[in-house]
Amino acid sequence: MSSYKIAVIPGDGIGKEVIPEGIRVLEAAAASAGVKLSFTHFDWSCETYHQTGRMMPVDGLEQLRGFDAIFLGAVGFPGVPDHLSLWGLLLPIRRAFNQYVNLRPVRLFEGLQSPLANKKPGDIDFYVVRENVEGEYSAIGGIQYEGTDEEVVLQQSVFTRKGTDRILRYAFELAQSRDKKHLSSATKSNGLFHSMPYWDKRFADMAEDYPEVKTDQFHIDIFTANLVRMPEYYDVIVGSNLFGDILSDLGPACTGTIAIAPSANINPEKEFPSMFEPVHGSAPDIAGQNIANPLGTVWAAAMMMQHLGNQTMHDQIMAAMEAVIREGKALTRDMGGTASTQELGQALVDQIASG
Ligand code: ATP
Ligand code: MG
Repeated sequence: MSSYKIAVIPGDGIGKEVIPEGIRVLEAAAASAGVKLSFTHFDWSCETYHQTGRMMPVDGLEQLRGFDAIFLGAVGFPGVPDHLSLWGLLLPIRRAFNQYVNLRPVRLFEGLQSPLANKKPGDIDFYVVRENVEGEYSAIGGIQYEGTDEEVVLQQSVFTRKGTDRILRYAFELAQSRDKKHLSSATKSNGLFHSMPYWDKRFADMAEDYPEVKTDQFHIDIFTANLVRMPEYYDVIVGSNLFGDILSDLGPACTGTIAIAPSANINPEKEFPSMFEPVHGSAPDIAGQNIANPLGTVWAAAMMMQHLGNQTMHDQIMAAMEAVIREGKALTRDMGGTASTQELGQALVDQIASG
């Protein structure tokens, strides 16, 4: 019997409401697949920050290191500046565990209405592959002449050859494995003088290793416009930390709700645990009301099982999601229904038990 040890960090806001549903669904799928899952909870959050001045203990990363995967809700809440909560928990985990791939699938499910006219399931089905540990998201820089009229703020981006090549390689491999074999690169080489021409050059060089993959590149501004105008054009998209982040909120917005989108922070070499979370944040505006959509978390749970090598559980969870969305009886408010977070979780559990 295969068994997996999962570290669970529900975090803040609706993270605390959607994670229990993700766990229920995982347990239902594990029971039917004959898999043993053990969950260890870490209550690290903005509350921890208020009590201790830190988002997680000094040895937090050490505590996580031995797990097979990390299952995360959401981090950040009003009262703690976003950059402190992110740099106190999420970003150190991504970096310490070399989770340099952020994989974010985007799909229009049957039963959901795209805000874009005339889009059917199948028209929107792509992956965003986002560079996850370097690029524009950096703490290098600072402020000079602070408090004077001459204030200058510098914010450095970092693009290493290793970091650029490994994310491009991952994206090319993914594109190669798909039917359309089409990879689009998000760039801005007319505005970012050093980093993006470098990215473009590495992309063009690597394309030579993948003659079957059709490639193109778009500046991020027209890329966002294209994604809304013709999402069916895209198959695999690769972008830097910032551009990938932008595209992976825009993508799910085109599928009816950002709340179903998952985010896998992957260490492809499996030297360290990878981390799985919904794309959405802690949503303070709806926290505590039992109306949050747990599907982003559930889809993330499916990706976690796939990463751990259990395709059966992945497929089972995805099939349950598809069926429950298609049926439309237990949808949360953001998807046009009236179900609570827990009712939607229960519908998935029932679906798995009956399938
Ligand atoms: P972050 O910076 O952490 O990504 P954010 O500021 O982008 O956070 P979210 O917390 O993702 O914001 O919320 C954006 C909007 O989407 C809010 O109005 C929120 O209520 C809604 N939302 C987010 N997640 C869900 C969910 N799971 N179910 C329903 N609505 C959600
Ligand atoms: Mg956001």
